[in-house]
Amino acid sequence: MSASDSKQNGAPKIGVYVCHCGINIAGKIDVAGAVEFAKTLPNVTVAREYKFICSDPGQELIQQDIRDGKINRVVVASCSPLMHENTFRKATKAGGENPYFFQMANIREHVSWVTTDKAMATIKAKALIAGAVHRVAHHKSLERTRVPVNPDVLVVGGGIAGIHAALTLADSGKKVYLVEREPTIGGHMAQFDKTFPTLDCAACILTPKMSAVRSHPNIILWSYSEVSQVEGYVGNFKVKVRRKPRYVDETLCVGCYECIDKCIFKKPKFPDEFNQGLNLRKPVYIPFPQATPLVALIDPETCAEFRGGKCKKTCAEACERNAIDFNQKEEIKEIEVGAIILATGYKTFDAKRIPRYGYGKYPNVYTAMEVERLVNASGPTGGEVLLRDGKKPKSVAVVHCVGSRDENTNRYCSRVCCMASLKLAHLIHERTEAEVYNFYIDMRAAGKGYEEFYDRLLAEGVHFIRGRVAEISDWATTPEEEGKLIIRAEDTLIGVVRRIPVDMVVLATGLEAQADAEDVRRVFNISCGAEGWFLERHPKLAPVSTFTDGVSLAGACQGPKDIPDTVAQAGAAAAEALALIDKGFVELEPNTAYIQDEFCSGCKTCIGLCPYSAISFVADKNIASVNGALCKGCGTCVAACPSGALQQNLFTDEQIYDEIKGVISYV
Ligand SMILES: Cc1cc2nc3c(=O)[nH]c(=O)nc-3n(C[C@H](O)[C@H](O)[C@H](O)COP(=O)(O)OP(=O)(O)OC[C@H]3O[C@@H](n4cnc5c(N)ncnc54)[C@H](O)[C@@H]3O)c2cc1C
Ligand code: SF4
Ligand code: SF4
Repeated sequence: MSASDSKQNGAPKIGVYVCHCGINIAGKIDVAGAVEFAKTLPNVTVAREYKFICSDPGQELIQQDIRDGKINRVVVASCSPLMHENTFRKATKAGGENPYFFQMANIREHVSWVTTDKAMATIKAKALIAGAVHRVAHHKSLERTRVPVNPDVLVVGGGIAGIHAALTLADSGKKVYLVEREPTIGGHMAQFDKTFPTLDCAACILTPKMSAVRSHPNIILWSYSEVSQVEGYVGNFKVKVRRKPRYVDETLCVGCYECIDKCIFKKPKFPDEFNQGLNLRKPVYIPFPQATPLVALIDPETCAEFRGGKCKKTCAEACERNAIDFNQKEEIKEIEVGAIILATGYKTFDAKRIPRYGYGKYPNVYTAMEVERLVNASGPTGGEVLLRDGKKPKSVAVVHCVGSRDENTNRYCSRVCCMASLKLAHLIHERTEAEVYNFYIDMRAAGKGYEEFYDRLLAEGVHFIRGRVAEISDWATTPEEEGKLIIRAEDTLIGVVRRIPVDMVVLATGLEAQADAEDVRRVFNISCGAEGWFLERHPKLAPVSTFTDGVSLAGACQGPKDIPDTVAQAGAAAAEALALIDKGFVELEPNTAYIQDEFCSGCKTCIGLCPYSAISFVADKNIASVNGALCKGCGTCVAACPSGALQQNLFTDEQIYDEIKGVISYV
């Protein structure tokens, strides 16, 4: 709706409500003084203060003043609009006025929380209130637009988060597209043998869920695929998915391994990614026995046919189902969905970034993820913990916080590494009877059953040394240290530097945002925090929503998490998608751009600038036109239009200039 055809509500009678927010605001700002000041501003008919205006009685004050005919526009001076703009718009509406006859002045995040100077805080608060009062006088009546919601959902990432979200949605009757980048779903959990703190078998709880995904009539699983483009808006996204060629027809392959057995490479020769490169695979392979889909794939980087074009193609000869297809090409699928759940997980910290820990230099320094594969019955050693020379270690050090809680790498705590370290310490001790030493900074055991798990490890005789490891080397200074890895660390509990010789070291590498998180963020038009994790709309009140309506987050892509928290969050993301779909429609905010046709010169400057492709050219009228459903109200076009033909609801020139006038005339 344009400003010109919107309904006015008569001469402005403005109510100003200044919130104490407990002592958050009142501790720094002279609230009573601000209220007295507001009474002197043009068109202000009511000015009040209240302890918590967002509370029911606080909102009732506003509604009653509207009902009594004292006011027809509302200014609330309180916290960030991100927190309560919607609350007060609803209150304005409940009082009987259009919700857009409302303006917020943020005197908490922009004033009281960012200064210690009370006098200056009050001056700034008054200026912001004056700006809001000036602005709201120019507000127009606006309406939200209703659009129907497509009931299908896209889930991106097939780790435990994506699997759980997809199954929850599919079980409630929704069609789900599950897009996984790797040849199989399962994510990191598929690589574990046991899960802390209960030590239940990871495969036993994960494999049935993976099979359920494969066989579910409401789930379309696209593995070895990535989302390349997303257009549209909440309820109506248009998505392009790039399906990489496997060179094996997924509809024909039954995962019989015949092609792998008959490959001209008689022996595996190339690093096996699923086993962290600890053993080898052939160019045609199935990542692991429970892979879903259980379909072979050919790696063109290592396959003789792709590299030289001269292979006898014994794999293709062996396949009775004629599933091998060397001519398979990349495919682009186009789908339409109403909601999107991102569940792209994490990557582990690269241990080579801390050279003093010797990873890559000393063969028996492993990462925790490598040891997860060693202890796994279907891993490269059949579940035995062995050194590179095939012998069992007699002593093992587990180093916590590698790439976490460290100024030089990541300052945050990775949350799961303490428990993963305890799990590995237990499994190593159980399988080798080795002496196991855990080097930790603080033991973080805050989950359910975690402290008890720590107690269990203490009882099992695992040694715990509190102190950050300074260095791992092979520099022996005594005969006992010969041939060993020497851990040098300060034991902060007894205040001495210790040297402990061991056969094997396990580095509990931290969790990091995926390497391509920034690219994925751009495709889905969401934000990343400073550490690269996808940013939730609000850390407490909207932990699975993003700033893009219709796009939710599940699991470790939002920050480090264990499996119980991941599954809980995936359920919440699925519930959010269901709530959106079952409502059947969405209401789009009216803060969109609009073109005043009479001023548009048809120069098309705005069309290329709009990041959401919301503007098109109407050739027969020689003017541009904004699609209100696609416009996100970023204002780029409005600022760029050389003719001043573009305006934006809630950000018209007169609203902005008068707000500035209000701010500067009272400072
Ligand atoms: C060594 C170690 C041991 C652990 N042990 C335990 C344990 O015992 N118990 C426990 O509770 N927690 C444990 N954890 C934590 C556990 O790994 C996580 O909680 C869990 O894996 C998070 O699941 P997720 O689905 O969010 O992410 P992930 O498991 O990382 O899955 C993400 C999925 O998304 C896919 N993906 C990524 N990017 C894209 C893209 N752009 N497009 C499509 N697909 C994409 C990935 O290929 C992957 O399949 C451990 C962590 C570590 C490091
Ligand atoms: S491609 Fe053919 S031979 Fe290879 S696993 Fe599939 S069905 Fe078996
Ligand atoms: S304000 Fe303009 S540039 Fe921004 S989304 Fe709307 S139409 Fe596109």
